Amino acid sequence: MAKFIFVTGGVVSSLGKGLAAASLGAVLQARGYKVRLRKLDPYLNVDPGTMSPTQHGEVFVTDDGAETDLDLGHYERFTGVSARKTDCITTGKIYSNVIAKERRGDYLGATVQVVPHITNEIKDFILGDVTDEDFVICEVGGTVGDIEGLPYLEAFRQLRNDLDRMQTMFVHLTLVPYIPSAGELKTKPSQHSVKELQRSGIQPDLLLCRSDREIPQSDRNKLALFCNVREENVVQALDVKSIYQVPLSYHHEGMDRAVCKHFNLPHDKAVDFTKWNAVVDSHLNPETQVEIAVVGKYTSLQDAYKSLNEAIVHGGISNHTKTNITYVSSEDIEKDGALLHLKNMNAVIVPGAFGTRGAEGKIKAIQFARENNIPYLGICFGMQMAVIEAARNLVGLTNAVSSEFGKDGEKIVGLMTEWDSEAGKQKRAETADLGGTMRLGSYPCVLKAGTLAEKIYGSSSIGERHRHRYEVNIRYKENLEKQGLIFSGLSPDGSLPEIVEYNNHPWFVAVQFHPELKSKPFEPHPLFHSLVAAATQHNKES
Ligand code: GLN
Repeated sequence: MAKFIFVTGGVVSSLGKGLAAASLGAVLQARGYKVRLRKLDPYLNVDPGTMSPTQHGEVFVTDDGAETDLDLGHYERFTGVSARKTDCITTGKIYSNVIAKERRGDYLGATVQVVPHITNEIKDFILGDVTDEDFVICEVGGTVGDIEGLPYLEAFRQLRNDLDRMQTMFVHLTLVPYIPSAGELKTKPSQHSVKELQRSGIQPDLLLCRSDREIPQSDRNKLALFCNVREENVVQALDVKSIYQVPLSYHHEGMDRAVCKHFNLPHDKAVDFTKWNAVVDSHLNPETQVEIAVVGKYTSLQDAYKSLNEAIVHGGISNHTKTNITYVSSEDIEKDGALLHLKNMNAVIVPGAFGTRGAEGKIKAIQFARENNIPYLGICFGMQMAVIEAARNLVGLTNAVSSEFGKDGEKIVGLMTEWDSEAGKQKRAETADLGGTMRLGSYPCVLKAGTLAEKIYGSSSIGERHRHRYEVNIRYKENLEKQGLIFSGLSPDGSLPEIVEYNNHPWFVAVQFHPELKSKPFEPHPLFHSLVAAATQHNKES
């Protein structure tokens, strides 16, 4: 029977609750337990798919095609467990399920209410689709005290009584700030936050206290006393240099020991952290460094490129190289030209994006990388723009565009209205809703023998995650290949271009999918490993 750990956050937002939950999963996994992580988001969107990346950060896509919160990316990177559709829920989805049931007449005349109908739906989600996991860690978004979060706290409270006595645990993440004028760490905000949680009927079992410095034992005792928590269950979460040190730091502070003790599980055996030590060692002790430009338009919020950022770091870890990332606004390239922003770069990446704004700047950046032999990785929109750049500047189709740009021009990239998936043929109309209607999730791709892509992957068939509405039109393949842009990866039926590369460039690969979503610190994605290796080579030669 799985044990459920509920992770809540208090005092302030942005304490890194997702990382905390992911790291807790990692340390329990290191103890040999099977873990699963879930995110419960209190907003009213059905999923984050329609939210701007500059507001909510990147949309993480699962193999089975769910558009989810970026915390699921942390969970996958830290545990290697592929997230599923059933690992992410929002208030919007909970309410739409409940309202659909009400319309069907499932509630048999009852007045439909937050308690018990919404809370039951939340509990069904928490308990559903669990098989042989030892631990299911459920993180609720937001901060304790938010109106939106209340039904989730109520569902957690009820579960403590619904399940066996020792089957649940409440972990509360707080902040213990240092006040320079007093020269002291302060425990009061944590005390207030726990009081707020207690108002919802939840008594935390463990306090995880973020702090920029060591919390003295006397302060920990105070927290334990005023928050009604065992002293050994007040665990400090100190700032660390690399996020991949967090599981090691938690273990050092006794977090997993406390959790095991809570559940009456063996807690004294030695735990093997070899793979984490190797990752951290390589991350913190690079032998060389490279400059990588990410040319995008969501540069105001780095969370918009969370998985990309991490995948680049992973490529650096496996190459013992520090990857200095510069986020360049593609609109700045439109204004100033590519040379100014990209001349000192060892690699250029154009990541995924939606809409026309900044597209011309990306096309300029790609042309610059192609003409100057700078390693280039195009991701999704970055692949579509690479093909448009080639069509315009090499094939001579000067009005080449994507139908995403509007009605005019030659549509090299067009709206996808029909494609094959495991679930059968998928069809979309131009007027379809925007939410949840893209080509989403993992699709197979066949690689052409003898290409760079095949060499990088070391395999001729791969599966990668997609999230897009438009595709490169296969009809242009012949003319583009004549100019050296090789279609090295195609959908198994040969109709959808998935990877293109130049046969006359040191490293230029553009992919229709999102490789960054599958990269792990201890298993870097081959494309990012290879890109950083090429960037290191570029750095040596320039
Ligand atoms: N906007 C493009 C499309 O829908 C690319 C999407 C992306 O980069 N994820 O096809």
